[in-house]
Parts: sequence; C-alpha cells; structure tokens
Amino acid sequence: MHEMAIAESVLEIVEATARGNAAARVSAVWLELGALSHVEARALLFCFDAVTRGSLAEGATLEILVLPGEAWCMPCGDRVALAKLGDPCPRCGSFQLQVMSGEEMRVKEIAIA
Ligand SMILES: [Zn+2]
Repeated sequence: MHEMAIAESVLEIVEATARGNAAARVSAVWLELGALSHVEARALLFCFDAVTRGSLAEGATLEILVLPGEAWCMPCGDRVALAKLGDPCPRCGSFQLQVMSGEEMRVKEIAIA
C-alpha cells in the first residue's frame, strides 16, 4: 500500500524532529499535502495510526492541510487552479496542462510533550 510507505516516511521525520528536541512524546502532526499528490488522506490517516503504534508518536493526531494545485495551461498561456489530476483547464477546457504545484508533501509542524 502506497500510503503505508508515506506514513512511514512521515513518522521518520517526526521521530527525528522529536529526538532533536529531546521530546518524549508527539501529540500532533500537521502535514501539508498537495491536492494533486496521489495520496488519499483517509488512507494516510489509517496508516499513520498503524505505523505510530509503539513509537513516540503513538496516539498523535495527524492533521492534513490540503494545498491547492496549480497548472500551466498552454492555450491560456497562464497559471490556472487545478482541483485534481486529469481535470481540464477550468477556463478553456484544454487538457494541455503542465502541473506547477500541488504534488508536494511536507511535515509542517509537530506538537511535542
Ligand atoms: Zn486554459
């Protein structure tokens, strides 16, 4: 499962950050997720719960902040908003789009105890 690998890498970042701050426990994690990344938020939440069991982030809440996607539309010659991959340009309906942002994933903040 794709989301399981992502949850594991999130946990690695969280654990490294927590240790760097001499934290005994992590109570919450804020994750920025691009709307165009191939990650399903619900599946990720489930996997995060599973991989954090027994770690210092056990029981921590995962808050997912979805960042909007943006693409370059060739016919429009401009940046347009893109809700999800495979969608046409909201202005002209073209599929000649090049994704500019919205595929990223980043641990934004963690709450430690
Ligand atoms: Zn367009």
